[in-house]
Amino acid sequence: MNGYAFLRICAVLVIVFSIPQTSIAQIHLNRVSKAERSDGKGYVVRFHFDQPIDSFQVIQPATDLIQMQLFGKDIDTTGIDLPEIGGKIQEVRLYKMEDSYGVDIYLDQNVYVMASAYPDKYSDDLLLALTKATAYEVEVFTQQFLAKNWYLNVNPEDALEITMVPAAEPDDKFNDLADKLKFDTIVIDAGHGGKDPGNVGYKNTREKDIVLAISKKLGEYIEEYLPDVKVIYTREDDTFIDLYDRGSIANKHQGDLFVSIHANAWHNPSVRGTEVFFLGLHRSESSLEIMKKENMIFNDGEREVRELTEEELLIYELAHSGYIANSERIASMMDHQFSKRANRKSRGVKQAGFVVLYEASMPALLVEVGFLTNPSEQRFLASEYGQSIMASAIFRSIRDYKEEYERSQEITSSN
Ligand SMILES: [Zn+2]
Repeated sequence: MNGYAFLRICAVLVIVFSIPQTSIAQIHLNRVSKAERSDGKGYVVRFHFDQPIDSFQVIQPATDLIQMQLFGKDIDTTGIDLPEIGGKIQEVRLYKMEDSYGVDIYLDQNVYVMASAYPDKYSDDLLLALTKATAYEVEVFTQQFLAKNWYLNVNPEDALEITMVPAAEPDDKFNDLADKLKFDTIVIDAGHGGKDPGNVGYKNTREKDIVLAISKKLGEYIEEYLPDVKVIYTREDDTFIDLYDRGSIANKHQGDLFVSIHANAWHNPSVRGTEVFFLGLHRSESSLEIMKKENMIFNDGEREVRELTEEELLIYELAHSGYIANSERIASMMDHQFSKRANRKSRGVKQAGFVVLYEASMPALLVEVGFLTNPSEQRFLASEYGQSIMASAIFRSIRDYKEEYERSQEITSSN
């Protein structure tokens, strides 16, 4: 996204963002955490709410000051964890007012970022995006705003109602789910199914059948060799499941990993090899053809391709900073297994905008196990032997990742 487009999005977002309210019970703001974005484009600050707030506003009156107003009649911040003072994001201060909270975020003076905010689509949290820009761009951006003095928002006699919220013990963990010590649930998604055959290759081999067979073998290996991990399938037979529902199934079971299994096709039969994708902003041109096939939506017999917008990808990036790094890690472990242990030709690890991954709120991968249009790869993938090889390669990378993940969680929690 260029600087101008970004400015335009920011300008739209300073208008109060209204969120439909579902409940009038007390809303808890438990903590505010910060993280570096995995796309290297800046930082993200997360406001951890247990219910949606009414609305919010964000302005940036100076290069080093961002101000937010969070509206909600009954927001409670007792015992809130605020980020430690210092670093790029120097300090977060909260001011309690009658119908809202004022927030001041002070940045290091050498940091040049532009602020925008979004409700997290995966939780009730609010995400503040700080996107790197040039000093000049930030200067121009800030000129449209006047700093708010929270103390002027109330009558002088009520001035006591505005109180700064003291921070409890700082806690910089960014995603709530990432606090889990154990890797204990995996969601296996066999692509396509029912009226959607997926790719059809050599000898009319259908993607939906091949990937279901590999998915079931993978599930069996996990159940046998990792008995403490629960296996959830999005489909176990030849049924059609919407792309959006696949992610919802994964979220409902609070999976630690979502693996969507697919097989590829190409008009040139000599093309072959495996690919492992995770969702990211750096979409490569070569991924576009695959995205068109895997992002097909079936509406009343009509097929259409759903494309994720730049803004959707940015929100995913903000919400999942922690997960994206994990997804990339497992993707490279899986790629290693395919090429070094299963002796497949690897086409590498790539980023792309797959809808099925976008919906899952956890580390998530899409695997292309090979090309059904390549006669030798089709023979391999259609055979019991080939399916076992692919399933066990995926299994080993998950097993290794689980070990690594749990070891790192133990180290973090014992510190
Ligand atoms: Zn597919």
